[in-house]
Amino acid sequence: MTTQGSSPRGTNLDPWYDSYADRTAGLSASEVRALFAVASRPEVVSLAGGMPFVSALPPELVSGALERVMRDRGPVALQYGSGQGTPEIREHILRVMSSEGIRGTVDNVVVTTGSQQALDLVSRLFLNPGDIVLAEAPSYVGAIGVFRSYQAEVAHVAMDEDGMIPAALSETIARLQAQGRSIKLLYLIPNFHNPAGVTLSWERRLEIIEIAKANHILILEDNPYGLLHFGQPAPHAMRSVEEDGIVYLGSFSKTFAPGFRVGWALAPHAIREKLVLANESAILSPSSFAQSVITEYLNEADWKGQIDTFRGYYKDRRDAMLTALDDFLPETIWTVPNGGFFIWLTLPENLDSKSMLPRAVKELVAYTPGTAFYADGGGRNNIRLSFCYPSPEFIREGIRRLSTVVNGELDLLKTFSQTGPLAQHAEHGVMNPPANLS
Ligand code: PMP
Repeated sequence: MTTQGSSPRGTNLDPWYDSYADRTAGLSASEVRALFAVASRPEVVSLAGGMPFVSALPPELVSGALERVMRDRGPVALQYGSGQGTPEIREHILRVMSSEGIRGTVDNVVVTTGSQQALDLVSRLFLNPGDIVLAEAPSYVGAIGVFRSYQAEVAHVAMDEDGMIPAALSETIARLQAQGRSIKLLYLIPNFHNPAGVTLSWERRLEIIEIAKANHILILEDNPYGLLHFGQPAPHAMRSVEEDGIVYLGSFSKTFAPGFRVGWALAPHAIREKLVLANESAILSPSSFAQSVITEYLNEADWKGQIDTFRGYYKDRRDAMLTALDDFLPETIWTVPNGGFFIWLTLPENLDSKSMLPRAVKELVAYTPGTAFYADGGGRNNIRLSFCYPSPEFIREGIRRLSTVVNGELDLLKTFSQTGPLAQHAEHGVMNPPANLS
């Protein structure tokens, strides 16, 4: 039932307002998305989006693969294909996963349109309205969006520099079970977490698998960044020790290029069958063309060497960001990632990263406010900083600009506490004074 005025589905200015399905209530533009328009202006240093640095991929590696595809297998590459993906690329996927300790069969791999679509398919198979998905606090904004679009509720579980805390997981499960809630999935990004930058320790991986098994909760292990380490590889995947209770997701987006939109799920046999049916109903078949190009690339190019090249770029950028944070923002706390794309910054407690954003954009730096990564309003004084895309020089300049913003806000707060909220508000034209001072 809808009421006049506005609803989570939109406003009644939309002529289709009363027609949308209930599940669209979970569809809202992510904070990351809204930022892209601003952040893409050339004068803005964007530390916001998580775009891989695809310029590090030599164009001839891609054009060579394209040419070979059209020369040797054009009619197949241009045709519809199997809903599960081509056998060749699934063989390759097994080889890619074996470097993280995973052993599976070609039969249990399902190729998807990026791992984002695999998140959607798994949600479609398992989530009823009101079901619970457990996820780290914070968690990947794109996954939270998918879970919500199936009207599931995300319950966050505390994490620290070693990833999700098993005791907090047990506590959360017990509390939700006592309330009679149905917990369907445990969603984890164990390696070089988006957005927190941390990696789940090996001991915790084992503990968490046991907790999930004991409570009959399916683990969704999302691992797009695992191969992008900066020296010390991440521990082996959780899927390397447990087959039946885990759906594992991988992607070529960060180790090759996201434009091809090829990812995959490795699932226990029964789930795999349903995933293929769901994939066929959603898209008939993943792109034959994209799979063929990636297959050619993996056949002929030194793809492991290319991953090393990516690692080198990202490590330099991570280092540039850490040095700049040391130099310009000593009043904040940050995580130190050993791979991936992201650093999680904690501002002094009374700062609000979302209300600070317009000021940051004025200073020509963009970031993603921490609240984007929580389903429950958490992350108010956090920021996700991406170091994957801008050059080290731009990263340093971006952090310098950010420090101007943070210090400006801190100065304002000082003035605020001296002159009182109303005086300060009028004087500086601040639209959203931090809640704890207003
Ligand atoms: N999972 C995580 C944790 C991600 O960061 C992303 C992309 N940002 C995805 C899944 C989706 O990636 P893709 O669809 O490009 O494979």
